Amino acid sequence: MTARLGMHTLTGDRGLLFGGDYNPEQWPEEVWAEDAELMNAAGINLVTVGVFSWARLEPEPGARDFGWLDRVMDLMAGAGIAVDLATPTASPPPWLGHRWPATLPVDESGHRLWYGSRNQFCPSSPLYRERALAIVTDLADRYAGHPALALWHIGNEYGQFCHCDDSAAAFRAWLHGRYGDLDTLNEAWGTTFWSQRYSDWTEVITPRRAPYIINPTQQLDWQRFCSDALLACFRAERDVLRERTPDVPITTNFMGLFKPVDSWAWAAEEDIVSNDWYPEPGDPLSPARTALAHDLMRGLGQGRPWLLMEQSTSAVNWRPHNLPKPPGQLRLESLQALARGADGLCYFQWRASRFGAERFHAAMVPHAGPDTRLHAEVRAHGQELRKLASVAGQPVPARVAMVFDWTSWWALEERGRPSDRLNAADQLLAYYVPLWERGVSVDLVPPDADLSAYALVVVPNLFLVSDRDAAALTAYARGGGVLVVGPFSGVVDPNAHIRTGRFPAPLRAVLGASGEEWQPVAGEVRCRWAGGGEFTAHTWTELMTAEGAETVAEFSGGGPAVLRHRAGDGVAWYVATMPEPAALGEITARALADAGVRGALPDLPPGVEAVRRGEVLFLLNHGPEPASVPIPDAAEDLLTGAAAEGLVTLAPRAVAVLRPHG
Ligand SMILES: [Zn+2]
Repeated sequence: MTARLGMHTLTGDRGLLFGGDYNPEQWPEEVWAEDAELMNAAGINLVTVGVFSWARLEPEPGARDFGWLDRVMDLMAGAGIAVDLATPTASPPPWLGHRWPATLPVDESGHRLWYGSRNQFCPSSPLYRERALAIVTDLADRYAGHPALALWHIGNEYGQFCHCDDSAAAFRAWLHGRYGDLDTLNEAWGTTFWSQRYSDWTEVITPRRAPYIINPTQQLDWQRFCSDALLACFRAERDVLRERTPDVPITTNFMGLFKPVDSWAWAAEEDIVSNDWYPEPGDPLSPARTALAHDLMRGLGQGRPWLLMEQSTSAVNWRPHNLPKPPGQLRLESLQALARGADGLCYFQWRASRFGAERFHAAMVPHAGPDTRLHAEVRAHGQELRKLASVAGQPVPARVAMVFDWTSWWALEERGRPSDRLNAADQLLAYYVPLWERGVSVDLVPPDADLSAYALVVVPNLFLVSDRDAAALTAYARGGGVLVVGPFSGVVDPNAHIRTGRFPAPLRAVLGASGEEWQPVAGEVRCRWAGGGEFTAHTWTELMTAEGAETVAEFSGGGPAVLRHRAGDGVAWYVATMPEPAALGEITARALADAGVRGALPDLPPGVEAVRRGEVLFLLNHGPEPASVPIPDAAEDLLTGAAAEGLVTLAPRAVAVLRPHG
């Protein structure tokens, strides 16, 4: 295989990428020439075309209408704008579902979901797959070698599932591959409970709606299968494209921490990781949540640059109440992605739609036209990115890793556990925030990652853990690493069976502590630091005993709440509750001290994000007030060309991109 395709394939000649989804089929062709002119004026160099064009490309079964797309591709080539060409398979035309209803998905109640919206396909339908591959093959044959074609965009926001008979058959085949025989499946699913023993493969079904709680291992395997079934759809399209255009990289757009697809497994199958991300303007945690999503994308690409495929210039339309972005917010959020490893900053979408379900979604060219405040900001941002071209390809070095696992997420959040209030994504964010506030860069990693390069590894929750991964975490700490483990970790094995004995059984030795009861609480509990002072925790406590670990904090009613253990050459922390943010910040600060890790800058003002990418330091003020940030070295602000020294003052929503002098 030749050198791996990646963002460098696109940015090598173009620098940072800037653009958006371009849906010219929604507009008369007279508008297209103006589009190209406006795009050039805004510095746009990448557009995503054709995501929802199946009905236009194949107006009736087997027909092909590529003429309009030929003209779009030629127009973009003439304007010097690269095309991220989408396979149109996320939304089949009505004729597919009308003629062949078996291609339509079925929900857990057995109800078929119809066309009239989007995403209406069954991932396991042989006919859907056949028709999808046919249009993808013709698309690839037609545009292979076209000068505008720079990137393939497969499908869109994969996350479908289906409970039809085809899916049930595919689920059984998947289970057969996993377990080999029915006795092994019965054992893994624990079917002696509630008289669920299967006597024949044909009895095994998807977890359809049932009178009461569904078998947790059946449910877990179903989630594994759904991710794999969609991945098989993706792979089939990818293989068609790769065969015909081996030099064109391939991506599909993730949606941050999105539960239905195991993004670790998916990212390994694509050339470029890309993400759709829409921060909630009313959520005070949005800047940290967004940073976490960006770090996840960088982690999915194992540190390589990624592409922000979709963001909004202002309001979205799909929340109940949609706040616009104030002036400067568009730029702030886009540069935040750049700071955290994105080499391309794109939007949904170029021109605001007049019709359809997203007609109130903001765009790069609003309904009011290009002579507007919003479009002026878009244009200024695109032009400004040229000053930051040197950032492309630069790494975001991190000495801290956070472990996150989709399988454990699925297993944790099933019904029938001690508390529904302990959730994997919330725990991840809770442990991420104090690192973000301190300007500490974090890599998101899967539980089987090589941890040897990290000084600190944080495991906010790992409810399901394999023996091998638990042993690796143990070896990491014993070998000199600093390990922080959050509550309700190490509870079940890969079959979601409880690990018996004192918990967390596979991590007990390295943590130097163990527990015997999970004890959720109605509200808050008080805790005392061993060195004096108190804090509150909430929702969750565990009845723990120290077995060599020191008790850093205890519950006011007695028993360790936070433990720290010298394990071999390293240190292992265990947090047996959900501390208030300030207390989790204190635990984080102590673990960082154990690891000898410092943030990008000391004493960051609240709301200011600091992150280093390559030699450049990004400072982003997410707060409502001006902020002054002391910087250690004289620098040049790449955005303004001005010299910076001593104290950098940032207005609300302002950004500085500082390159040290000399
Ligand atoms: Zn189906």
